[in-house]
Amino acid sequence: MGILNQARASVIWRGYEYYKDKKVINFRKESDSVFYGSVKGTTTYDVKIDINHTVKNTYCNCPFAKDNRKICKHMVALYFTAFPNEAERYIKNVEEERIEERFNEMYGYPDEDFEDYEDNEEIKDSFIYEVISDYVNQLSVSELRSKLIDALIELYGKDFP
Ligand SMILES: [Zn+2]
Repeated sequence: MGILNQARASVIWRGYEYYKDKKVINFRKESDSVFYGSVKGTTTYDVKIDINHTVKNTYCNCPFAKDNRKICKHMVALYFTAFPNEAERYIKNVEEERIEERFNEMYGYPDEDFEDYEDNEEIKDSFIYEVISDYVNQLSVSELRSKLIDALIELYGKDFP
């Protein structure tokens, strides 16, 4: 909890990538709040986090965090290793924010709530069209074929052709 609150957004993102790439090794749980691990980076760093005492008791010997009280990406990676549910929640939020950002870019309502436009069917349909065509455009031909077959089965079932 405290770790993410005190970290910059870019640091959390890098920490998440480290976590996903399984760069945390020698993970050890000392208690419900204190965790140790080593994190592979340019070199391997030793990290300790205490989620109840993030300032006093949290440590990493990388140049970014050593001798000051900054939360670094290694601490975040260790935190996500200790609390995978938090990592799931974090990436879900990031993805939702991205969709919301794209929506705002396309329709230019940066000051308004995304939810207000979810009721507008016309805007919603064209947004869904954009998202789906982006998805389809990145599929390979064989993926396209199998998706089309699935879709036709779902659409027609036994009534095909
Ligand atoms: Zn560090």
